[in-house]
Amino acid sequence: MLYDKAGDKVKTYQYSTKNAEATMQFAEDLAGCVKAGTVITLEGDLGAGKTTFTKGFAKGLGIKRAVSSPTFTIIKEYQGRLPLYHMDAYRLEHSEEDMGFEEYFESAGISIIEWASFISDFLPEERLDINIQKITDTERVLQITAKGTWYEDLLKRLTGIKGD
Ligand code: ADP
Ligand code: MG
Repeated sequence: MLYDKAGDKVKTYQYSTKNAEATMQFAEDLAGCVKAGTVITLEGDLGAGKTTFTKGFAKGLGIKRAVSSPTFTIIKEYQGRLPLYHMDAYRLEHSEEDMGFEEYFESAGISIIEWASFISDFLPEERLDINIQKITDTERVLQITAKGTWYEDLLKRLTGIKGD
């Protein structure tokens, strides 16, 4: 558990996983806590586990279709308990292209964005930022930062499920 400058808990939460299944399980549990309009960014090197995370998240939304990387399509949509918009901004680096992101972010669906820093100008201020760091072939550290009060509450609920 980390603390912000005021000494308040859970604006940032760190969670370690020992295999891909644990990362997917974490994402699946997170999916159980989200509401319409939730925006989640995923950062981390190639192979860190951003798409793997999204697969677990999709399962948690009850999505049956196989989730694959949207690198070449940029946005893929799936239908679950809520719609999921899986985005990959990798190919948009330096492009400043607006794919109509705001419409997705303000919709009743959930947006998950890989390489979100490449479209940082379009991101809503309130969101959940997740950074996945590769430690070894199978170990990862997920650093989750809540921006905005609803996301802080979300993080509290998640830490309640996953432990400190
Ligand atoms: P990215 O989308 O970040 O480029 P991927 O999810 O496509 O990464 O690939 C991550 C790879 O790392 C997958 O082959 C996955 O099985 C593997 N992996 C191994 N350990 C983990 C872990 N703890 N969490 C997530 N992925 C893991
Ligand atoms: Mg990916």
